[in-house]
Amino acid sequence: MKKIGILTSGGDAPGMNAAIRAVVRTALVNNIEVMGIYKGYLGLHEGEILPMDRSSVSDIIQKGGTILKTARFPEFADPKVREKAAQVLRVYGIEGLVVIGGDGSFLGAKGLSDLGIKTIGIPGTIDNDMAYTDRTIGFDTAQNTVIDAINKIRDTSSSHQRVSVVEVMGRNCGDLALYAGIAGGATTILVPEKKYSKDEIIKTVMDGKRHKKHHNLVVIAEGVGNSEEIAKEIEDVSGIETRTTVLGHIQRGGMPTAYDRILATRMGHRAVELLIEGKSARVIGTVKGDIVDYDIHEALSMTRPFNEKLYQIAMDLV
Ligand code: ADP
Repeated sequence: MKKIGILTSGGDAPGMNAAIRAVVRTALVNNIEVMGIYKGYLGLHEGEILPMDRSSVSDIIQKGGTILKTARFPEFADPKVREKAAQVLRVYGIEGLVVIGGDGSFLGAKGLSDLGIKTIGIPGTIDNDMAYTDRTIGFDTAQNTVIDAINKIRDTSSSHQRVSVVEVMGRNCGDLALYAGIAGGATTILVPEKKYSKDEIIKTVMDGKRHKKHHNLVVIAEGVGNSEEIAKEIEDVSGIETRTTVLGHIQRGGMPTAYDRILATRMGHRAVELLIEGKSARVIGTVKGDIVDYDIHEALSMTRPFNEKLYQIAMDLV
């Protein structure tokens, strides 16, 4: 392996830069050239490719977002488009490719590996919605961002004795709501994996009122439904002022936590090792603290059961 490429694709996540840095420096120390591919598969298709040296990744370990930029490029599902992208890689002499992104990005990586480009995937998404790995890069930072927001909302809501409804990201995966909800001391946590009853939510709020609770916090994953509607219903039935905050994109940004930086660094390092070993169509994960790798297809077909135990703990503490 003489030359590799690296790109970030799909939604950005804090810690992607730390992974880029680890890939670039691990490659260079092994005398492998690195080409940075900008704007994900779109930039690959358009040939937006520049060499990276040691200093091109200086001063980025602490930065959110991705210095390589990212893009959505649905056209990449078309085999003809992928063939052109593989040709671009061949012209540049890029034999191996590291793709940092979510499951859509991994499908693109698999497509390229079928065309003879050695590809390795690193999971970068704040949702933690990839079953084969205990953690994705960005999740830890995002949950800390949510907790920080919850703390601030709690101050004002508690002063006014309101109910706060906080909507966090997570279309199909409720991990961000569950973890941040527990760490933020939520009274109710709604996740897409579990049915909820409006009566139950309202009962919890009314119980809180009886126990002279100053504040009730309801954390909702976006995939559950319309948080404004749920808030209105709580207010109508309980008679307690209820305010909704949709956290939105602030959850994506910010300085990555130590955990995400270290995870990203270990994964980036392993990605280059795998390419040196001649592996392809593998994705890197972490299981029980170890860095592991799986075949892309195998990884994408895995399902992870919802953490019922953790959910139960949260509900027991209300
Ligand atoms: P994520 O990687 O975070 O899941 P997306 O699902 O948007 O985000 O996928 C990111 C990019 O990966 C897409 O814009 C597209 O370029 C590529 N991609 C997604 N699905 C496929 C597919 N089935 N085949 C090839 N490439 C894909």
